[in-house]
Amino acid sequence: MNTIQKLHAREILDSRGNPTIELEMILDSGMKSWSSVPSGASTGIHEAHELRDGEKRMNGKGVRNAIKNIHDIIAPAIIGMNPINQSEIDNKMLELDGTANKSKLGANAILAVSMCVARLGAYCQGKKLYQHIAELSGQNPKMPRPFFNVINGGMHAGNSLPFQEFMISPRMDNFADTYYAAAEIYAQLKKNLKTKFGGAATLLGDEGGFAPDHIEDTYEVLDMLMTAVADAGYAGQVDFALDLAASEFYRDGNYDLGFKTETSDMKSVDEMIALYVDICEKYPIISVEDPFDQDDFSAFAQLRKILAEKNIQVVGDDLTVTSPVRIQTAIEDKSCNSLLLKINQIGSISEAIAAFKLARSENWTVMVSHRSGETTDDFIADFAVGVGAEQVKFGSVARGERVVKYNRLLAISEEL
Ligand code: PEP
Ligand code: MG
Repeated sequence: MNTIQKLHAREILDSRGNPTIELEMILDSGMKSWSSVPSGASTGIHEAHELRDGEKRMNGKGVRNAIKNIHDIIAPAIIGMNPINQSEIDNKMLELDGTANKSKLGANAILAVSMCVARLGAYCQGKKLYQHIAELSGQNPKMPRPFFNVINGGMHAGNSLPFQEFMISPRMDNFADTYYAAAEIYAQLKKNLKTKFGGAATLLGDEGGFAPDHIEDTYEVLDMLMTAVADAGYAGQVDFALDLAASEFYRDGNYDLGFKTETSDMKSVDEMIALYVDICEKYPIISVEDPFDQDDFSAFAQLRKILAEKNIQVVGDDLTVTSPVRIQTAIEDKSCNSLLLKINQIGSISEAIAAFKLARSENWTVMVSHRSGETTDDFIADFAVGVGAEQVKFGSVARGERVVKYNRLLAISEEL
């Protein structure tokens, strides 16, 4: 029989050197799976609760209590269950937790278990993880379009750039060519940054994009991207996407573009809208994520209305936090037309699938996303393909914890 026999969790380190959970799950047949859990830096205040120990050790970021919850509370309740029954097991954990935001057991503890269960649900039916996710979600597997974050700012870099992510997405016929084109543009961008500003401008931020300290101006970044694309031979074949992560520089109704420097540079909502519209007119931007504060559904809606006419999507991340409740508000307020889906924002695979379905029912696009603190777990590549998400962002084309996910997509693309 394929029933869960043993769970063994340990505290590993993530790509920023912070503790996180790695879990091994074993069936009585001897079949095994593993998972590990990511962690954000520009974390939305409405996300499910990431349980941290809060003691002096590891700067308060230890996850020993979350691990204890897995061993002492979750394991006894799910041992003997069949991993094919994903929603039954996820619901059991939600019951055990009993809070609205998973603050008792920790979303990190619950997610580690939920991911292992999904993997074993696939393996014990002789299926690939993406095939199993497709069945769980009732979708057809599909290759997503990748967005590669090549310039890092905001909370992901020690430079002065206020905006968090500048992404490129080459328009090639297949995933492999898209991936290699992005790598060529990235290498060209490195060369250009070095020539213009020196080697220090090519140091990397948390997601593997360059984090130059010499550019504060958004237009200059976008010009550098245009030049790198052209120099690499891809002029006219690459779209851009931005993640502003604006909650990080929201200050009492205004936005401080100088928040990482000595001098503040306050902009009103109207001024921010004018800036976004202007850069969208001047550059091939097709996606704008978190342009306003995480509770400003109405500013999102104003921008969505303007950009929808230009076929540019507005993506909710901190606004919607992969939560069906917040997505519903964004639907009613017409705040966005694309969902950023992060499995650890909601904390279980069944709920992540429910969030996906709600967004899809409104014809939103869905972009499956990594976190800025990552591990080498490539689960979200299979997840994105399985639910048939249109888009993914897994960071840059560098750093092992980022490319492991793109490399997994590459392998899946040979099968589909
Ligand atoms: C994001 O904001 O989309 C992101 C990936 O960053 P973080 O994980 O820091 O929230
Ligand atoms: Mg974001």
